[in-house]
Amino acid sequence: MSKFSEFNFKDQKTLIRVDFNVPLNDKYEITDDNRMRATIPTIKKILNDGGSVILMSHLGRPKDGPEEKYSLKHLIKHLSELLGGTMVFFANDCIGEQAYLTAGMLRPGEVLLLENLRFYKEEEKGDKAFAEKLSKLGTVYVNDAFGTAHRAHASTAVIAQFFPPEKRMFGLLMEGEVKSAEKVLHEAHKPFVAIIGGAKVSDKILILENLLERATDIIIGGGMAYTFIKAEGGKIGNSLCETDRIQTALEILDKAAKKGVCIHLPPDSMIADKFDANANTSTSPSNHIPDGWMGLDIGENACEQFSNVIKKSKTILWNGPMGVFEMAKFQHGTRVIARAIAEATQKGAFSLVGGGDSVAAINQFGFADKVSYVSTGGGAMLEYFEGKELPGIAAIKG
Ligand code: AMP
Repeated sequence: MSKFSEFNFKDQKTLIRVDFNVPLNDKYEITDDNRMRATIPTIKKILNDGGSVILMSHLGRPKDGPEEKYSLKHLIKHLSELLGGTMVFFANDCIGEQAYLTAGMLRPGEVLLLENLRFYKEEEKGDKAFAEKLSKLGTVYVNDAFGTAHRAHASTAVIAQFFPPEKRMFGLLMEGEVKSAEKVLHEAHKPFVAIIGGAKVSDKILILENLLERATDIIIGGGMAYTFIKAEGGKIGNSLCETDRIQTALEILDKAAKKGVCIHLPPDSMIADKFDANANTSTSPSNHIPDGWMGLDIGENACEQFSNVIKKSKTILWNGPMGVFEMAKFQHGTRVIARAIAEATQKGAFSLVGGGDSVAAINQFGFADKVSYVSTGGGAMLEYFEGKELPGIAAIKG
Protein backbone atom coordinates (compact mmCIF):
# COMPACT_ATOMS: atom_id res chain seq x y z
CA MET A 1 0.00 0.00 0.00
CA SER A 2 1.05 3.62 -0.51
CA LYS A 3 0.92 6.41 2.02
CA PHE A 4 -1.79 8.86 1.07
CA SER A 5 0.00 12.05 2.07
CA GLU A 6 3.10 11.05 0.08
CA PHE A 7 1.23 10.07 -3.08
CA ASN A 8 0.99 12.48 -6.01
CA PHE A 9 -2.49 12.23 -7.50
CA LYS A 10 -1.74 14.38 -10.56
CA ASP A 11 -3.71 13.09 -13.57
CA GLN A 12 -4.97 10.08 -11.61
CA LYS A 13 -8.63 9.16 -11.59
CA THR A 14 -9.02 8.31 -7.94
CA LEU A 15 -11.84 6.00 -6.93
CA ILE A 16 -12.67 6.69 -3.27
CA ARG A 17 -14.94 4.56 -1.10
CA VAL A 18 -16.49 7.07 1.27
CA ASP A 19 -19.13 6.69 3.96
CA PHE A 20 -21.82 9.14 2.91
CA ASN A 21 -24.50 7.20 4.76
CA VAL A 22 -25.99 10.40 6.21
CA PRO A 23 -29.48 10.80 7.69
CA LEU A 24 -32.04 12.53 5.42
CA ASN A 25 -35.41 13.94 6.47
CA ASP A 26 -38.60 13.42 4.45
CA LYS A 27 -37.70 16.37 2.21
CA TYR A 28 -34.38 14.63 1.45
CA GLU A 29 -32.43 17.24 3.39
CA ILE A 30 -29.29 16.14 5.19
CA THR A 31 -29.82 16.40 8.96
CA ASP A 32 -26.25 15.54 10.01
CA ASP A 33 -23.39 15.97 7.55
CA ASN A 34 -20.52 14.89 9.81
CA ARG A 35 -19.69 11.84 7.71
CA MET A 36 -19.42 13.98 4.59
CA ARG A 37 -17.29 16.62 6.29
CA ALA A 38 -14.94 13.95 7.68
CA THR A 39 -13.74 12.96 4.23
CA ILE A 40 -13.43 16.43 2.64
CA PRO A 41 -9.67 16.77 3.44
CA THR A 42 -9.02 13.54 1.51
CA ILE A 43 -10.95 14.76 -1.53
CA LYS A 44 -9.33 18.21 -1.42
CA LYS A 45 -5.78 16.84 -1.32
CA ILE A 46 -6.43 14.83 -4.51
CA LEU A 47 -8.04 17.77 -6.31
CA ASN A 48 -5.21 20.09 -5.24
CA ASP A 49 -2.66 17.62 -6.60
CA GLY A 50 -4.37 17.87 -10.00
CA GLY A 51 -6.26 14.59 -9.87
CA SER A 52 -9.94 13.85 -10.36
CA VAL A 53 -12.19 12.09 -7.88
CA ILE A 54 -14.84 9.40 -8.29
CA LEU A 55 -16.85 8.88 -5.11
CA MET A 56 -18.74 5.71 -4.24
CA SER A 57 -20.85 5.12 -1.14
CA HIS A 58 -23.90 3.38 0.21
CA LEU A 59 -26.89 5.22 1.70
CA GLY A 60 -29.45 3.51 3.94
CA ARG A 61 -30.62 -0.03 3.43
CA PRO A 62 -32.36 -0.34 0.06
CA LYS A 63 -34.11 -3.70 -0.12
CA ASP A 64 -34.44 -4.45 -3.78
CA GLY A 65 -32.78 -2.15 -6.29
CA PRO A 66 -33.08 1.64 -6.73
CA GLU A 67 -35.33 3.64 -4.37
CA GLU A 68 -35.74 7.41 -4.57
CA LYS A 69 -35.23 7.95 -0.84
CA TYR A 70 -31.85 6.23 -0.93
CA SER A 71 -30.50 8.05 -3.98
CA LEU A 72 -27.16 9.76 -3.50
CA LYS A 73 -28.30 12.50 -5.87
CA HIS A 74 -29.79 14.22 -2.78
CA LEU A 75 -26.22 14.89 -1.63
CA ILE A 76 -24.85 16.57 -4.77
CA LYS A 77 -25.61 20.18 -3.86
CA HIS A 78 -24.28 19.95 -0.31
CA LEU A 79 -21.17 18.10 -1.41
CA SER A 80 -20.44 20.84 -3.93
CA GLU A 81 -20.82 23.45 -1.16
CA LEU A 82 -18.51 21.53 1.19
CA LEU A 83 -15.94 21.50 -1.61
CA GLY A 84 -16.10 25.27 -1.93
CA GLY A 85 -18.33 25.33 -5.00
CA THR A 86 -16.56 22.59 -6.98
CA MET A 87 -18.86 21.17 -9.66
CA VAL A 88 -20.03 17.65 -8.77
CA PHE A 89 -21.11 15.37 -11.63
CA PHE A 90 -23.50 12.52 -10.90
CA ALA A 91 -23.90 9.12 -12.52
CA ASN A 92 -27.30 7.53 -11.86
CA ASP A 93 -25.73 4.09 -11.71
CA CYS A 94 -22.49 3.06 -10.03
CA ILE A 95 -21.45 0.85 -12.95
CA GLY A 96 -22.54 0.77 -16.60
CA GLU A 97 -22.00 2.99 -19.61
CA GLN A 98 -22.91 6.39 -18.15
CA ALA A 99 -20.65 5.87 -15.15
CA TYR A 100 -17.71 4.79 -17.33
CA LEU A 101 -18.21 7.61 -19.84
CA THR A 102 -18.46 10.30 -17.17
CA ALA A 103 -15.49 8.90 -15.24
CA GLY A 104 -13.52 8.72 -18.49
CA MET A 105 -14.22 12.36 -19.33
CA LEU A 106 -13.40 13.75 -15.87
CA ARG A 107 -10.68 16.38 -15.96
CA PRO A 108 -8.22 17.21 -13.20
CA GLY A 109 -10.01 19.00 -10.34
CA GLU A 110 -13.42 17.48 -11.15
CA VAL A 111 -15.61 15.25 -8.99
CA LEU A 112 -18.03 12.49 -9.91
CA LEU A 113 -20.48 11.00 -7.40
CA LEU A 114 -21.80 7.54 -8.24
CA GLU A 115 -25.28 6.28 -7.37
CA ASN A 116 -25.83 4.11 -4.26
CA LEU A 117 -23.71 0.94 -4.32
CA ARG A 118 -26.35 -0.98 -2.40
CA PHE A 119 -28.79 -0.71 -5.28
CA TYR A 120 -26.88 -3.84 -6.30
CA LYS A 121 -27.15 -6.90 -4.05
CA GLU A 122 -23.65 -7.79 -5.22
CA GLU A 123 -22.20 -4.99 -3.06
CA GLU A 124 -23.01 -6.53 0.32
CA LYS A 125 -22.38 -10.03 -1.00
CA GLY A 126 -18.81 -9.01 -1.77
CA ASP A 127 -19.26 -10.14 -5.38
CA LYS A 128 -15.93 -10.29 -7.18
CA ALA A 129 -17.22 -9.55 -10.70
CA PHE A 130 -19.10 -6.48 -9.40
CA ALA A 131 -15.98 -5.30 -7.55
CA GLU A 132 -13.97 -5.68 -10.75
CA LYS A 133 -16.51 -3.57 -12.68
CA LEU A 134 -16.23 -0.82 -10.07
CA SER A 135 -12.44 -0.98 -10.16
CA LYS A 136 -12.45 -0.08 -13.87
CA LEU A 137 -13.69 3.41 -13.00
CA GLY A 138 -10.40 4.57 -11.49
CA THR A 139 -6.65 4.25 -11.72
CA VAL A 140 -6.09 4.48 -7.95
CA TYR A 141 -8.23 3.13 -5.08
CA VAL A 142 -8.57 4.97 -1.79
CA ASN A 143 -10.62 3.63 1.11
CA ASP A 144 -11.81 6.41 3.41
CA ALA A 145 -14.89 4.64 4.80
CA PHE A 146 -13.86 3.48 8.26
CA GLY A 147 -17.53 3.10 9.23
CA THR A 148 -17.82 0.10 6.88
CA ALA A 149 -14.28 -1.27 7.30
CA HIS A 150 -15.66 -4.25 9.26
CA ARG A 151 -17.67 -5.38 6.24
CA ALA A 152 -16.21 -7.54 3.48
CA HIS A 153 -18.25 -5.80 0.80
CA ALA A 154 -17.34 -5.41 -2.88
CA SER A 155 -16.39 -1.72 -2.60
CA THR A 156 -14.81 -1.83 0.87
CA ALA A 157 -12.56 -4.88 0.61
CA VAL A 158 -12.91 -7.11 -2.48
CA ILE A 159 -12.12 -4.30 -4.93
CA ALA A 160 -8.61 -3.71 -3.51
CA GLN A 161 -7.20 -6.80 -5.25
CA PHE A 162 -7.78 -5.16 -8.66
CA PHE A 163 -5.24 -2.44 -7.89
CA PRO A 164 -1.51 -3.03 -7.48
CA PRO A 165 -0.27 -2.39 -3.91
CA GLU A 166 1.22 1.01 -4.81
CA LYS A 167 -2.15 2.13 -6.24
CA ARG A 168 -4.26 1.41 -3.17
CA MET A 169 -4.23 3.21 0.16
CA PHE A 170 -6.21 4.57 3.10
CA GLY A 171 -7.58 8.11 2.87
CA LEU A 172 -6.78 10.66 5.56
CA LEU A 173 -9.84 9.81 7.68
CA MET A 174 -9.20 6.08 7.59
CA GLU A 175 -5.49 6.63 8.22
CA GLY A 176 -6.33 8.69 11.34
CA GLU A 177 -8.73 6.02 12.62
CA VAL A 178 -6.26 3.19 12.09
CA LYS A 179 -3.38 5.14 13.62
CA SER A 180 -5.36 6.04 16.78
CA ALA A 181 -6.73 2.54 17.20
CA GLU A 182 -3.24 1.04 16.84
CA LYS A 183 -1.85 3.54 19.29
CA VAL A 184 -4.30 2.29 21.90
CA LEU A 185 -4.20 -1.42 21.13
CA HIS A 186 -0.53 -1.91 20.33
CA GLU A 187 1.46 1.07 21.57
CA ALA A 188 -0.40 2.07 24.75
CA HIS A 189 1.62 3.92 27.37
CA LYS A 190 0.69 2.61 30.81
CA PRO A 191 -1.38 3.08 32.88
CA PHE A 192 -3.99 2.27 30.25
CA VAL A 193 -7.63 2.61 31.33
CA ALA A 194 -10.55 1.32 29.28
CA ILE A 195 -13.93 2.78 30.20
CA ILE A 196 -16.71 0.50 29.02
CA GLY A 197 -20.36 1.38 29.49
CA GLY A 198 -23.70 1.06 27.76
CA ALA A 199 -26.64 -1.21 28.13
CA LYS A 200 -25.57 -4.80 27.66
CA VAL A 201 -22.76 -7.06 28.81
CA SER A 202 -23.50 -9.38 25.90
CA ASP A 203 -22.49 -6.68 23.38
CA LYS A 204 -19.21 -6.01 25.16
CA ILE A 205 -17.88 -9.43 26.16
CA LEU A 206 -15.36 -9.73 23.33
CA ILE A 207 -14.03 -6.23 23.83
CA LEU A 208 -13.66 -6.86 27.59
CA GLU A 209 -11.84 -10.15 26.93
CA ASN A 210 -9.41 -8.46 24.55
CA LEU A 211 -8.82 -5.51 26.87
CA LEU A 212 -8.00 -7.86 29.75
CA GLU A 213 -4.83 -8.65 27.79
CA ARG A 214 -3.86 -4.99 27.45
CA ALA A 215 -5.36 -2.58 29.98
CA THR A 216 -4.14 -1.69 33.47
CA ASP A 217 -7.63 -0.67 34.63
CA ILE A 218 -11.10 -1.34 33.27
CA ILE A 219 -13.95 0.88 34.43
CA ILE A 220 -17.38 -0.68 33.92
CA GLY A 221 -20.37 1.66 34.05
CA GLY A 222 -23.84 1.99 32.53
CA GLY A 223 -26.51 -0.69 32.61
CA MET A 224 -23.98 -3.48 32.09
CA ALA A 225 -22.37 -2.81 35.49
CA TYR A 226 -25.38 -4.26 37.34
CA THR A 227 -24.89 -7.76 35.93
CA PHE A 228 -21.37 -7.65 37.43
CA ILE A 229 -22.68 -6.28 40.75
CA LYS A 230 -25.31 -9.00 40.90
CA ALA A 231 -22.64 -11.59 40.06
CA GLU A 232 -20.74 -10.40 43.13
CA GLY A 233 -23.84 -11.00 45.27
CA GLY A 234 -25.26 -7.45 45.25
CA LYS A 235 -28.96 -6.49 45.39
CA ILE A 236 -29.72 -4.48 42.25
CA GLY A 237 -33.51 -3.99 42.44
CA ASN A 238 -34.98 -3.53 38.97
CA SER A 239 -31.71 -2.45 37.34
CA LEU A 240 -30.78 -3.94 33.98
CA CYS A 241 -29.48 -7.45 34.42
CA GLU A 242 -28.64 -10.21 31.98
CA THR A 243 -29.07 -13.27 34.18
CA ASP A 244 -27.63 -15.52 31.47
CA ARG A 245 -24.41 -13.48 31.58
CA ILE A 246 -23.78 -13.66 35.32
CA GLN A 247 -21.41 -16.58 34.87
CA THR A 248 -19.55 -14.67 32.11
CA ALA A 249 -19.26 -11.66 34.41
CA LEU A 250 -17.76 -13.87 37.13
CA GLU A 251 -15.27 -15.33 34.66
CA ILE A 252 -14.21 -11.84 33.54
CA LEU A 253 -13.74 -10.73 37.17
CA ASP A 254 -11.74 -13.88 37.87
CA LYS A 255 -9.50 -13.48 34.81
CA ALA A 256 -8.88 -9.83 35.66
CA ALA A 257 -7.81 -10.76 39.20
CA LYS A 258 -5.38 -13.37 37.83
CA LYS A 259 -3.91 -10.95 35.31
CA GLY A 260 -3.65 -8.08 37.77
CA VAL A 261 -6.08 -5.90 35.80
CA CYS A 262 -8.06 -3.68 38.16
CA ILE A 263 -11.80 -3.73 37.43
CA HIS A 264 -13.71 -0.74 38.80
CA LEU A 265 -17.47 -1.05 39.30
CA PRO A 266 -19.54 1.94 40.48
CA PRO A 267 -19.72 1.85 44.31
CA ASP A 268 -22.90 3.96 44.23
CA SER A 269 -25.69 4.77 41.79
CA MET A 270 -28.29 7.37 41.01
CA ILE A 271 -31.49 5.34 41.22
CA ALA A 272 -34.99 5.93 39.87
CA ASP A 273 -38.42 4.45 40.61
CA LYS A 274 -39.12 4.04 36.89
CA PHE A 275 -37.37 4.27 33.53
CA ASP A 276 -38.61 7.76 32.82
CA ALA A 277 -37.21 11.28 32.44
CA ASN A 278 -39.55 12.44 35.26
CA ALA A 279 -38.97 9.53 37.63
CA ASN A 280 -38.37 10.10 41.34
CA THR A 281 -34.67 9.76 42.07
CA SER A 282 -32.40 8.96 44.98
CA THR A 283 -28.90 7.62 45.56
CA SER A 284 -27.90 4.21 46.80
CA PRO A 285 -24.90 1.90 47.15
CA SER A 286 -24.92 -0.04 43.85
CA ASN A 287 -25.13 -3.36 45.70
CA HIS A 288 -28.09 -2.36 47.91
CA ILE A 289 -30.64 -0.96 45.49
CA PRO A 290 -34.15 -1.22 46.98
CA ASP A 291 -36.79 -3.36 45.30
CA GLY A 292 -38.75 -1.39 42.71
CA TRP A 293 -35.83 0.97 42.02
CA MET A 294 -33.22 0.84 39.28
CA GLY A 295 -29.74 2.29 38.75
CA LEU A 296 -29.82 4.70 35.82
CA ASP A 297 -26.52 6.53 36.39
CA ILE A 298 -23.35 6.17 38.42
CA GLY A 299 -23.31 8.01 41.78
CA GLU A 300 -21.04 10.75 43.17
CA ASN A 301 -18.53 8.36 44.77
CA ALA A 302 -18.26 6.46 41.50
CA CYS A 303 -17.73 9.74 39.62
CA GLU A 304 -14.89 10.64 41.96
CA GLN A 305 -13.27 7.22 41.98
CA PHE A 306 -13.49 6.77 38.20
CA SER A 307 -12.20 10.32 37.58
CA ASN A 308 -9.15 9.63 39.77
CA VAL A 309 -8.31 6.49 37.79
CA ILE A 310 -8.76 8.35 34.49
CA LYS A 311 -6.63 11.32 35.55
CA LYS A 312 -3.65 9.13 36.46
CA SER A 313 -3.78 7.25 33.11
CA LYS A 314 -1.58 7.81 30.05
CA THR A 315 -3.83 5.98 27.58
CA ILE A 316 -7.63 6.13 27.67
CA LEU A 317 -10.22 4.28 25.63
CA TRP A 318 -13.89 5.13 26.12
CA ASN A 319 -16.80 3.13 24.72
CA GLY A 320 -20.32 3.42 26.10
CA PRO A 321 -22.10 5.88 28.43
CA MET A 322 -22.16 5.63 32.25
CA GLY A 323 -25.91 6.07 32.45
CA VAL A 324 -29.07 6.90 30.52
CA PHE A 325 -27.48 10.12 29.30
CA GLU A 326 -30.35 10.79 26.87
CA MET A 327 -32.38 11.89 29.94
CA ALA A 328 -31.14 15.04 31.72
CA LYS A 329 -31.50 13.53 35.21
CA PHE A 330 -29.16 10.65 34.40
CA GLN A 331 -26.38 12.30 32.41
CA HIS A 332 -24.23 13.59 35.26
CA GLY A 333 -21.95 10.52 35.44
CA THR A 334 -21.29 10.47 31.69
CA ARG A 335 -20.54 14.20 31.71
CA VAL A 336 -18.10 13.87 34.65
CA ILE A 337 -16.27 11.03 32.88
CA ALA A 338 -16.08 13.05 29.64
CA ARG A 339 -14.62 15.98 31.62
CA ALA A 340 -12.06 13.74 33.36
CA ILE A 341 -10.94 12.36 29.98
CA ALA A 342 -10.57 15.92 28.65
CA GLU A 343 -8.47 16.89 31.69
CA ALA A 344 -6.23 13.82 31.41
CA THR A 345 -5.74 14.58 27.70
CA GLN A 346 -4.75 18.14 28.49
CA LYS A 347 -2.07 16.71 30.80
CA GLY A 348 -0.65 14.58 27.98
CA ALA A 349 -2.66 11.35 27.94
CA PHE A 350 -3.78 9.86 24.61
CA SER A 351 -7.56 9.43 24.57
CA LEU A 352 -9.74 7.70 22.02
CA VAL A 353 -13.53 7.83 22.13
CA GLY A 354 -15.26 5.24 19.96
CA GLY A 355 -18.72 3.74 19.65
CA GLY A 356 -21.95 5.49 18.76
CA ASP A 357 -23.28 6.56 22.14
CA SER A 358 -20.07 7.77 23.77
CA VAL A 359 -19.35 9.80 20.62
CA ALA A 360 -22.85 11.30 20.82
CA ALA A 361 -22.23 12.07 24.52
CA ILE A 362 -18.83 13.70 24.05
CA ASN A 363 -20.29 15.89 21.30
CA GLN A 364 -23.36 16.74 23.37
CA PHE A 365 -21.25 17.79 26.38
CA GLY A 366 -18.84 19.85 24.27
CA PHE A 367 -15.62 17.92 24.96
CA ALA A 368 -15.07 16.48 21.46
CA ASP A 369 -12.19 18.84 20.67
CA LYS A 370 -10.57 18.18 24.06
CA VAL A 371 -9.85 14.49 23.53
CA SER A 372 -7.16 13.08 21.24
CA TYR A 373 -9.42 11.28 18.78
CA VAL A 374 -13.15 10.76 18.26
CA SER A 375 -13.81 7.77 16.03
CA THR A 376 -16.40 7.95 13.25
CA GLY A 377 -16.81 4.18 13.07
CA GLY A 378 -19.02 2.72 15.80
CA GLY A 379 -19.27 -0.94 14.79
CA ALA A 380 -15.90 -0.93 13.04
CA MET A 381 -14.07 0.47 16.07
CA LEU A 382 -15.81 -1.99 18.38
CA GLU A 383 -14.75 -4.94 16.20
CA TYR A 384 -11.22 -3.58 16.03
CA PHE A 385 -11.09 -3.52 19.83
CA GLU A 386 -12.49 -7.01 19.96
CA GLY A 387 -9.22 -7.97 18.30
CA LYS A 388 -10.73 -8.80 14.90
CA GLU A 389 -8.98 -8.05 11.67
CA LEU A 390 -11.17 -5.63 9.70
CA PRO A 391 -11.60 -6.70 6.05
CA GLY A 392 -11.38 -3.09 4.80
CA ILE A 393 -8.01 -2.63 6.48
CA ALA A 394 -6.63 -6.07 5.61
CA ALA A 395 -7.51 -5.65 1.90
CA ILE A 396 -5.51 -2.43 1.56
CA LYS A 397 -2.53 -3.83 3.42
CA GLY A 398 -2.71 -6.93 1.20
P1 AMP B 1 -24.67 0.71 24.05
O1 AMP B 1 -25.31 0.94 22.71
O2 AMP B 1 -24.59 -0.72 24.45
O3 AMP B 1 -23.38 1.45 24.22
O4 AMP B 1 -25.69 1.30 25.10
C1 AMP B 1 -26.05 2.64 25.13
C2 AMP B 1 -27.36 2.76 25.83
O5 AMP B 1 -27.24 2.28 27.14
C3 AMP B 1 -27.82 4.19 25.94
O6 AMP B 1 -28.99 4.34 25.18
C4 AMP B 1 -28.10 4.37 27.43
O7 AMP B 1 -29.31 5.03 27.70
C5 AMP B 1 -28.19 2.94 27.93
N1 AMP B 1 -27.86 2.86 29.36
C6 AMP B 1 -26.76 3.32 29.96
N2 AMP B 1 -26.82 3.10 31.29
C7 AMP B 1 -27.99 2.48 31.53
C8 AMP B 1 -28.62 2.00 32.71
N3 AMP B 1 -28.05 2.12 33.91
N4 AMP B 1 -29.84 1.40 32.57
C9 AMP B 1 -30.42 1.29 31.36
N5 AMP B 1 -29.87 1.72 30.21
C10 AMP B 1 -28.66 2.31 30.29
